[in-house]
Amino acid sequence: MDRLRTDSMKHAWLIGMLGTLLAANGGHTAPSGCASSSECFDSAQGRWFKGNTHAHAGMLLHGVVPHGDSSPASVAAWYRDHGYDFAVITDHNRFTDPAEAELERVQSRDFILIPGVEITSDYRFPGATQDGERAIHTTALNVHDAPPSDFANTPSRDILKAHIERTRAAGGITIVNPPNYHGEIKPADMLGLEGLHLFEVFNGEVEAHNDAAPGRLSTDQLWDALLTAGMHVYGVAADDAHYFKLPDLTTRYRGTFTLPGSGWIVVNARELSTPAIVGAIDQGRFYATTGVILKTLSYDRQHYRVEVDWPATDASLASTFVTEAARCVPANREHGLTVEFIGRGGRVLKTTHDDPAEFDIDPGDGYVRTRVTLVASLETRLDDAPCAHQFTAWTQPVFTGGGPPHT
Ligand SMILES: [Zn+2]
Ligand SMILES: [Zn+2]
Repeated sequence: MDRLRTDSMKHAWLIGMLGTLLAANGGHTAPSGCASSSECFDSAQGRWFKGNTHAHAGMLLHGVVPHGDSSPASVAAWYRDHGYDFAVITDHNRFTDPAEAELERVQSRDFILIPGVEITSDYRFPGATQDGERAIHTTALNVHDAPPSDFANTPSRDILKAHIERTRAAGGITIVNPPNYHGEIKPADMLGLEGLHLFEVFNGEVEAHNDAAPGRLSTDQLWDALLTAGMHVYGVAADDAHYFKLPDLTTRYRGTFTLPGSGWIVVNARELSTPAIVGAIDQGRFYATTGVILKTLSYDRQHYRVEVDWPATDASLASTFVTEAARCVPANREHGLTVEFIGRGGRVLKTTHDDPAEFDIDPGDGYVRTRVTLVASLETRLDDAPCAHQFTAWTQPVFTGGGPPHT
């Protein structure tokens, strides 16, 4: 029997089944019995909350090198004033406690700070040359103190492993920060690493290198390598902003200083509180984006559905922080919405321009995630020549079954 026919039969069965559930559930299609979003997810179960998990306040690195330009309170205020529901200040090896008085004042019912620090295992200062530098950076999310960051001549994989363990010991969870930053974290360093289930598929730092290059996987390809190996890993987008005060934040600064607003996550949770948001991130109940906003997202092991929120997407594309950070693609690239359903080995299982976009999952797909791309001609102050701009949302994988447990 061909797949299409099998799928339509399965679909018919599913629709019948859904009717029964709807009748029993009063119209609420919330999935039940899912241990995690690796099995199923329905955004109708919660509300969407926008947040950034990775940003820096000003500090002196090693006591001498200026790094970042704002106080923690003004960084927090930037996110609050730009429509974010939560933010995490993740300074290099410096813990930010949202309970500090000046940070308490920035928070409200509508905006919270989550404790965090960027564990920065870095040997650039003092002594090491740029080539000899090690740059293993992870976000320790919701810790109660800065985990130790020092290592003596330790392989990258062991440093990553220790970051995860030290973060857990400090009460938090780990997000692996730009894996291609200085090319320091190789796919083999992450493959099979216990406790690793969050990484930055997008990082806005000017040297993050999210794209592929000779000898280097893109972060998207890296994600598929990890998922194909059976790891339950979720993709985060974060701006990694360092500079908030540059005058007008215009052309001459972009590409040199990392500005806020280029990428973020949207978390589906029952309420805006640290436990609810961190729990939802831990469970993969969120999507990552550089501008495309979703209205609904739902999937189980048989079916995946994603729907764009056009008014919210238009609103996000009205921000120069979003558009000026967007990737420029050739002006003749097909414009509009493209949704790709991606499975084992990074294979694109279906490409559609439909909204909502739907896909009937085959157990052999291994896992299914989506990449939602919007190409639009927008003129920004940074464009030297005509180009189109690309905005992307990445949704999390559902596993078709039999994978290893979430660690
Ligand atoms: Zn930095
Ligand atoms: Zn950073």
